[in-house]
Amino acid sequence: MPIQLPEDVKAILHTLQTAGYEAYAVGGCIRDSLLGRIPDDWDITTSAKPEETKALFGRTIDTGIRHGTVTVMRHGRGYEVTTYRVDGEYEDGRHPKEVTFTASLKEDLKRRDFTVNAMAYNEKDGLVDLFGGRQDLERGIIRCVGDANERFSEDALRIMRAVRFSAQLGFVIENGTREAIRSHAENLRQVSAERIQIELTKLVTSPHPDLLRIAWETGITAVVLPEFDRMMAQPQNNPHHCFSVGEHSLRAMLAVRPEKCLRLAMLLHDVAKPLCLTTDEEGIDHFHGHAQKGEKEAARVLKRLRYDNHTIELVCRLVKWHDVSVACEKKAVRRAASRMGKDLFPLILEVKAADLSAQSGYRRAEKEKWLEKLRSLYEEIEREGDCLTLKDLAVTGKDLMEAGMKPGPGLGRTLQMLLETVLEDPEKNTKEYLLSLLLKET
Ligand code: ATP
Ligand code: MG
Repeated sequence: MPIQLPEDVKAILHTLQTAGYEAYAVGGCIRDSLLGRIPDDWDITTSAKPEETKALFGRTIDTGIRHGTVTVMRHGRGYEVTTYRVDGEYEDGRHPKEVTFTASLKEDLKRRDFTVNAMAYNEKDGLVDLFGGRQDLERGIIRCVGDANERFSEDALRIMRAVRFSAQLGFVIENGTREAIRSHAENLRQVSAERIQIELTKLVTSPHPDLLRIAWETGITAVVLPEFDRMMAQPQNNPHHCFSVGEHSLRAMLAVRPEKCLRLAMLLHDVAKPLCLTTDEEGIDHFHGHAQKGEKEAARVLKRLRYDNHTIELVCRLVKWHDVSVACEKKAVRRAASRMGKDLFPLILEVKAADLSAQSGYRRAEKEKWLEKLRSLYEEIEREGDCLTLKDLAVTGKDLMEAGMKPGPGLGRTLQMLLETVLEDPEKNTKEYLLSLLLKET
């Protein structure tokens, strides 16, 4: 696959080269191009110092001058242009605490984490691949540049990046690199929760979220997600299940579309099962209350990992309702959708489908039919625009007061009661009818 540089990248390289500097597209964009994928962004590495780069371009932003990075703007897009450098200790994944500039491309490529991320390209010199990155790309291998133990000692985040790239690309981690991960996983304790969270999110939203299993096998989750280790250690002696809680959750993640909150919800939906285990006289395991307790556990985990409030709230709601049972009739679906929040119901259907597909075959067809029925009932309700919330009710608090009710908590209770009536039968959602009910009451 020949590398096709975008016109803006060609122009930036050309400007730098014409001024007498070396310049290459480098890292992720070269890896992705060789794989035939469209890179998200194009990074450039150059022998020019940041001030020299700035002098050559009209619009630049000082992204990380200290680390040698200047963003060059072209046609509304930014391109990070970074001076060749040798890194000291890392502090946040892209930016080491101290850097030394160097005149050598080779030194700059040597500091990069994995062989597949350590290739550079320009039209003049073609591909610069000093560590066998292209071969590793062809064979599907994640391998550290240089000595893996050293590389993970410099920056423990690379441990998570290895698993994340393996999940994104569907690659295996080379044995030496994998053993070094095992030896250094403990060092992840020194890495900030924010940096870990970014890698975990990329891992679970990748095409192979189940490769979190590798993070477990190599001792990574024991440090960053010990709850998952407890899930892996929890068998489920119950006809509905054929995997441990952890294995089930990995498969459930794989079965849901790659959206952050859905994937995190599948990862954590049964997080509280190990805390809720009871075994009946027949030896069957039960996990009563695990969804409710799971909501709290999920919040604790996600807060620790510094997820944003929106993500925490949505994932926790999905965990809370994932096990809800709804009868196959419209009024039951309306009630459930109303109780959990209108926006949640279709997502809960996705969660339930993924959950189901990771269970044993026991009564599978029946459960699938039930879900299908719920989906079509919900779609009908949507189409008909049935009232599901107080906002859609044909009367408001103001209407009730005009009809003579006093303000206060009783007003809220009455509205809720009227909503229940309408959930039962949407035909009744008219002002006349609802107010007439009130008159009857009093
Ligand atoms: P993506 O942007 O898809 O996550 P990427 O490979 O572009 O993948 P970035 O985090 O954007 O990853 O980093 C760009 C490049 O910088 C990498 O390809 C790699 O060469 C280098 N790099 C980034 N983080 C590190 C690190 N912690 N240690 C060593 N090199 C790194
Ligand atoms: Mg990148």
